[in-house]
This record gives sequence, structure tokens and C-alpha cells, in this order.
Amino acid sequence: MTTTLITNIATLVTNDPALGEGPLGLIADAALVLEGDRVAWAGPAAAAPAADRAVDAGGRAVIPGFVDSHSHLVFAGDRTAEFNARMSGQPYKAGGIRTTVAATRAASDEALSANVARYLREALTQGTTTFETKSGYGLTVEDEARALRIAAEHTDEVTYLGAHIVSPDYADDAAAYVELVTGEMLDACAPYARWVDVFCEKGAFDGDQARAILTAGKAKGLHPRVHANQLTYGPGVQLAVELDAASADHCTHLTDEDVDALANSATVATLLPGAEFSTRAQWPNARRLLDAGATVALSTDCNPGSSFTSSVPFCIALAVRDMGMTPDEAVWSATAGGAAALRRTDVGRLTPGARADLAVLDAPSHVHLAYRPGVPLVTEVWRAGVRVVRAGARDRTT
Ligand SMILES: [Zn+2]
Repeated sequence: MTTTLITNIATLVTNDPALGEGPLGLIADAALVLEGDRVAWAGPAAAAPAADRAVDAGGRAVIPGFVDSHSHLVFAGDRTAEFNARMSGQPYKAGGIRTTVAATRAASDEALSANVARYLREALTQGTTTFETKSGYGLTVEDEARALRIAAEHTDEVTYLGAHIVSPDYADDAAAYVELVTGEMLDACAPYARWVDVFCEKGAFDGDQARAILTAGKAKGLHPRVHANQLTYGPGVQLAVELDAASADHCTHLTDEDVDALANSATVATLLPGAEFSTRAQWPNARRLLDAGATVALSTDCNPGSSFTSSVPFCIALAVRDMGMTPDEAVWSATAGGAAALRRTDVGRLTPGARADLAVLDAPSHVHLAYRPGVPLVTEVWRAGVRVVRAGARDRTT
């Protein structure tokens, strides 16, 4: 197997405290050796072993590729008017998710798949090498299964979210919709998915309905994750912890009991500041969760309604500026934290044996991700040992 030495790295983020300084395992003047699709070695450049070929990082920083553990990319249509109205302070008659459901149902398989590919490429050029994505804009047996089949063509981290909202077709009979989501729809969707998710929120699904949906999914071999406590206080976080969900996502409105439950569990608190940004809502308090000892992930929630960004660096900048995270914590949460939210140990770190997924920043340090907000610092991306985005060619993938 060919080995590649990447050397002249000003700062290497390994996310392994045993390899370097602090929780990020930082190594200055570092090098990295890749073998096939894996990392073979990480350490000071002066101590690097020989390799078949060498690549000069030019005094830039290298970080693990971002792990974006929460997105909704299987959709069609656009909600520009809704965003514009919201940001203009006009009262908006909520078409909301239903607008996207109608457009998604009407779209061809090819159009949906092309849309997923487009946003993935956008994310890749910004350093995202692992991503999760969900159904939830079909809300019929056929449309949900189709969304998951298409998602599975693009990633292994596929989430069944038939319980995004009660389907408009069942507007007067939520119980019947829950029965569909836990029955026939689940049967059709489970073969394509790894995860089951539910939007546990006032106006979507209550605690009992969410428990029924997640429990049914678990019985079919899917692992739970939960949209929890986004718009108001509620039972979502406690339910996530009770069912050993990999992640409780949003966590904007938390009681002390919710924070304690997360801190004393294996359930990651995934914060999605793009949603608060795009709805001018209250920020989640990352500092409070971190101080309590919870594991925090940062993700984009990329979707056309409430968070239409594929940029993890943007989320890092928001988390540092407005959610009380240090730059180190935010970078950890967007890499190792995202991996923890997907119960993965092979990504989100640059340690021997991990997948060779990395981003090269046009900056000497990972801190610049927050220090230089809005600047496209990711200049090169390697995925599974292959350089898929090249320096000076951000718009071209090879
Ligand atoms: Zn979401």
C-alpha cells in the first residue's frame, strides 16, 4: 500500500491527548503519514518516518475532516420567501415544512439525488468528510422510503425521520400517523437507515408519541436520536437519555435536570447554531453543558427552512462568539464531537488507524476558523486517503 507523508504542518489537530497538547492533542511543526485510506502515523515532523511520497502542507494547519452529524438534504424547492419575510419582521403564515414536503413529493428521484450531491460537494469543499442526513420531507410510505434510498446512495449515516411533523394527510388524526410511522412506513424504511429520529416538540410529537416511534425503530434495529428541546422546554432530552439515544439535537431550552441527565449519559448534546441564527432565536448555552460535563457536538442542521448552511466553519464561529465555547472546544465538537454523536471512533480524529479524512486550512492554526469568520479557509480536503479538494481549486473536486 502506498504511503504519503504530509509534512510542514504548522499545527496538527489529532484529537488525541496522548499524541499532543490538550484535549485536541495539538502538535506543532507536525507531520502525518497516510497508508491507503488510514492514518499510519502522527507526530513531530522531525521524527517522521519515510514514505513513498511527500506532500508539503506549506506551514498550514491540518485538522480532522468535519463530522456533520445532523442535516436534512433530501429535499426539493426553496424557502427564500419565508426567510425573507421572517428577517423583514413580517408576520408569516407558516407554510413551513409543508412547503418542502409538497416540492419534495413532486420531484423526480434524479432531481433529489442531484440536490443531495450538490450540497454534499458544497460541504466537502468546506471540510466536511462525514455527514448524516435524514428523510422527513416525504411523509408517505413511498416518499420516505425513496428519500432514504437516495440518501443511502450518498452516505452510510442515514436517519429515518418519518416523524418530522404529522403528515398533512393526517392533520386530524395524529394517532393514525404515529401508527403508520411505527408500522408500515418503518418496515419500508428500516432497510435503508441506521438511525431513527423524531421531532419531539409542541406542534410535532409529544413525549409519548416520540417514545412509541423511537421504541418501534429500536425493535427494527435502528438506533435512536432525537430532535429535542429546540423551541421550548419539553421531554425530548430526558427521553433521549432514557432510550440511550446517540444524540439529543438542538438542546436550546434545558432545565438543570436535562443538563444533568445529558452529563451523566452517553447521549451527546448536538448544538445547531445555524438554526438559531436563521430564526433569530435564543442561542443554546454550550458553556453550561460543557461545565456540567456533557459531550457536545456542533452540526449544521442544513435544511431549506430553518438553517440553510452547509458550513461547519460558520457554526464554529457562531459557537465561539455566542455560545460560550472556546475555539478549541468548538473545533473538537465539530470533529470528535460529531463522531461521538454518530457513535463512531474511526473518524473525527487523526490518530493511527483512523480514517485518513482531513482538511488543510489556509492558516497556521485551527483557531482561525473562529478568528476569521466567513473566510473560506479550507484549502484542501483528503477523504479516505485521497485528496478530493485541491489547494487553489476549491470549486473543483478531483
Ligand atoms: Zn433537524
